[in-house]
Amino acid sequence: MKILVSVDIEGVAGVVHPEQTRAGNAEYERARRQMTAEANAAVRGAFDGGASAVIVNDSHGDFRNLLHAEIDPRAEVLLGKPRDLGMMAGIDQDCAAVFLVGWHAKARSAGVLAHTINSFAFARVVVNGVEAGEAMLYGAIAAEFGVPVGLLSGDDAFVAETLELYPSAIAATTKRAHGNRTATSLSAEAACAAIRDSARDATLRVPSLTQKPVQTPLSLRLEATAAALADLFAMLPIVRRVDAMAVEWNSPTMRHAVRVLNSLSAMSFMLR
Ligand SMILES: [Zn+2]
Repeated sequence: MKILVSVDIEGVAGVVHPEQTRAGNAEYERARRQMTAEANAAVRGAFDGGASAVIVNDSHGDFRNLLHAEIDPRAEVLLGKPRDLGMMAGIDQDCAAVFLVGWHAKARSAGVLAHTINSFAFARVVVNGVEAGEAMLYGAIAAEFGVPVGLLSGDDAFVAETLELYPSAIAATTKRAHGNRTATSLSAEAACAAIRDSARDATLRVPSLTQKPVQTPLSLRLEATAAALADLFAMLPIVRRVDAMAVEWNSPTMRHAVRVLNSLSAMSFMLR
């Protein structure tokens, strides 16, 4: 039984500020250490629960945050970008479940460092009329491969909104959000213990995990954080400009939709 563990950093215990998520400072070095520890906690829990293989996918920023030398030797690690499938790289039909570790709430919600894919450029992503976060987008990609979401860890806002999407998943709450940059966090050790226990339980639960089929075709709407960004996004031939701030398009699958979103996100770097 193979488990994919996708690890972000904003939902990790002790992280409340953008500086902790950006390379080049001491606070980030501490945060990536905790990110690595929480990834390892999920790996250990998965093996405790009967997994035979675990792939850890580094899913934050430029996808090379995890301290490779400290990863549990039973796991393999997927690092680096650009890459297809982004935060869900490593998924295939042989995966029994995907675990979302250190993830965060969607843009415009009350979670710590809440955003959807790109906090600089994307104000809001809407799929078939519903506001989407990363867990909705990437969980739907997993569903397209027939793989259910088994574990969620992050702040209470992320857990609440994501359990609505994946009610059979098991959640480990690492901190209680009081705002975008403030939370009451578990200790590093307590967060890892909670994630390990939850990952074991989620692995034991694999046979009864459920998933909702993705309703295709998909209508996508992306609202930019600035009109200049919408000008830029409108240059991609697949999209329609609908007003000063927004573009829309249709996608046959969620995998296609996320490829478009990630292409627009990469384009936005020219206006930073
Ligand atoms: Zn991130």
